[in-house]
Amino acid sequence: MFDALGSSLRASLRRLTGSGRISAADLEAGLAEIRTSLISADVAMPVVAKLLDRIADRARVSEIVGGLGAGERMLGILHSALTETLGGSGRELDLRERPATILLLGVQGAGKTTTAAKLAYRLSKDGRRPMLVAADPRRPAAAEQLATLAAAIKVPMHREPIGTPVADIGTRAIAAARRLGLDVVIIDSSGRTTLDGELLEELRDLRNATKPRERLLVLDAATGQSALTIAEGFQSVAEPTGLILSKLDGDARGGAALSIAGGAGIPVVYVGTGERSDALERFHPERIANRILDMGDLATLAERVRDAEIGPAAGPDAEVRAKAAEARALRGGMTFDDLLGQLRQMSSLGPIGQVVKMIPGMGGMAEQADATRRGR
Ligand code: GDP
Repeated sequence: MFDALGSSLRASLRRLTGSGRISAADLEAGLAEIRTSLISADVAMPVVAKLLDRIADRARVSEIVGGLGAGERMLGILHSALTETLGGSGRELDLRERPATILLLGVQGAGKTTTAAKLAYRLSKDGRRPMLVAADPRRPAAAEQLATLAAAIKVPMHREPIGTPVADIGTRAIAAARRLGLDVVIIDSSGRTTLDGELLEELRDLRNATKPRERLLVLDAATGQSALTIAEGFQSVAEPTGLILSKLDGDARGGAALSIAGGAGIPVVYVGTGERSDALERFHPERIANRILDMGDLATLAERVRDAEIGPAAGPDAEVRAKAAEARALRGGMTFDDLLGQLRQMSSLGPIGQVVKMIPGMGGMAEQADATRRGR
């Protein structure tokens, strides 16, 4: 996801720090290179400017020029400037209410319905009891899609006949969730290709009726900088409390997260990294900065391992099976089925390339392996 951006930033850093001490001219040249890396990764210009200012300020304050250990300090400065631009300490969802209501917003095709299911899946793994609500009063196909996804992840879903006003859909869904003892209501609102007056009015009605503490705007990372215009459009009517960046797996150059997180003024809470219901990650600015700079992301890897162990891929008696397999392996009697089981566990962690890059230093090694394969 951050391959191109990460490798060019690291190359700039290596050139900048190769000589041990950094002169004022070196710093100037280094900053110009970092600027080029950011622009070629398609990072929005105002975000590039903000990031460079942060780096230059910190380099000045920490007296990088002429000092010793400049390389490590420069890496630290870049890391903290990236973390801050991506949103600082990150943000948790406010789910204290019973039931807590989350309104999902977004234009059609952004990935809103898929994300609703991903969020429900994640929250149910975290021990919550979510309900999904189809709140597009005109498009039966949207409700059908949500129903299919809800059935696959075994989460209850609420829908009303076509033409029901959205305010009624919302209030009835919340009442139903209360009756069923469910604690989170995730409302999939209508998506239109453009933000027209009718849609805005509908969102206003839905918001007034359901009073959701969380209003999460789903933005397609592939739309790059135009995502910022969409965010502005939703601001006046729904005041989003957080962003979810979908399709980050398709952002080959790696600038989308930085542009949107740094430019929207709304914190990113999750990112979508694939089409499956488990392809949703919490957005931790510091961990993303680690990944960009190839400092690894063991925290996220550990979470994936935990999720894979307790997920449906494992099944109820997985622990017993794993223990028996471990005992056989220790005796030197590992069976083909055991091996297959282990491989299945590995594959439920996600694409192996994504997993490897979370190990510190492995992003760079993956690049070298690629280069060797291409015969360079
Ligand atoms: P909606 O119109 O906003 O509800 O969008 P959908 O949920 O129907 O998603 C549109 C398309 O994007 C579907 O084909 C999804 O499978 C796909 N999609 C959604 N999120 C992701 C993601 O994080 N990664 C990838 N690769 N595809 C996604």
